[in-house]
Amino acid sequence: MAKISLVVPMYNEAENVSPFYESVSRVLNDIGLPWEMICVNDGSRDNTLTYLIALHQRDPRVKVVDFSRNFGKEVALSAGIDYATGDAVVTIDADLQHPPDVIKELISKWYDGCDIVFAVRRTRKVEGLFKRITTRIFYRVLGWLANIPNHDKIGDFCLLDKRVLEVLRKLPEHNRFMKGLFAWVGFKQDFVVYDLNTRKRGATKWSYWRLWNFALEGITSFSTIPLRMWTYIGFAIALVSFLYAAFIIVHTLVLGIDVPGYASLIVSILFMGGIQLISLGIIGEYIGRIYNEVKERPLYIVREAYGFDTPKEMGVTALENR
Ligand code: UDP
Ligand code: MG
Repeated sequence: MAKISLVVPMYNEAENVSPFYESVSRVLNDIGLPWEMICVNDGSRDNTLTYLIALHQRDPRVKVVDFSRNFGKEVALSAGIDYATGDAVVTIDADLQHPPDVIKELISKWYDGCDIVFAVRRTRKVEGLFKRITTRIFYRVLGWLANIPNHDKIGDFCLLDKRVLEVLRKLPEHNRFMKGLFAWVGFKQDFVVYDLNTRKRGATKWSYWRLWNFALEGITSFSTIPLRMWTYIGFAIALVSFLYAAFIIVHTLVLGIDVPGYASLIVSILFMGGIQLISLGIIGEYIGRIYNEVKERPLYIVREAYGFDTPKEMGVTALENR
């Protein structure tokens, strides 16, 4: 029988561990397939790990990967996927915002022959207006720059077939922008719709600064348009300067030299300086990422793993799977 692996990233989710386990295990037992639940403790500073170990001792189907520090949700998901032994992985948040009942629908689509099934939120009403607008702008820009189809539908509550898992495990990059990767791998994809719950316990970990960095990550790892556009901006500015130079020459020939020119001079110098700094900054974003990739550090460091037959080396990396 097909085995389902649940992958759950957890960062300071102590008060969610037990309610999450209760409702998810009820649903999974209902489905009747063998299952495991891989909880990745992403460097929590509360009691998440203690609770998880206790749960693992009570129910060995709960397995725990304990990171040495906080590596971020995307990396935690990658680790869970590396450790999963099932025929399909379902990634789900620990805060019960993703209703566990939807897992049934994901699995039935999977049985129908889909390789990736995304659970798509019906509305984003749960979030504030500002967040909804910024999210929309980001996905517009991302869809336009990085050419990711269905980008607004792709979320990280989804089911992945083992074919997809194999590909994801082999990807060497450190930039783990999951939405982009899911779109990039292709395969047969489908959607089911669900209503996002509000988070009942604990707090969200996504500050606006974090979301901004997440957005940068997404764009830079899937598009080089921000680099290339400077060629065109450069051409455009050169053209305008050329026209302006021609105008000044004619103007001087006809009307003679007029001395005041301070305002136009300083404005154009500042404008050019600004443009150059922006382009340098964008090149810097990419160079920083290249630097991170060439260092080839492990993607994550595992302090200890609980419940796995063949203990993996400390610090398994995507690189070792190459
Ligand atoms: N998470 C994580 N590492 C982080 C931040 C979040 O593993 O650095 C987990 C978190 O425990 C939760 C999931 O990712 O299970 C989603 O996080 P959160 O609910 O804070 O995000 P939101 O639902 O507000 O987008
Ligand atoms: Mg949440």
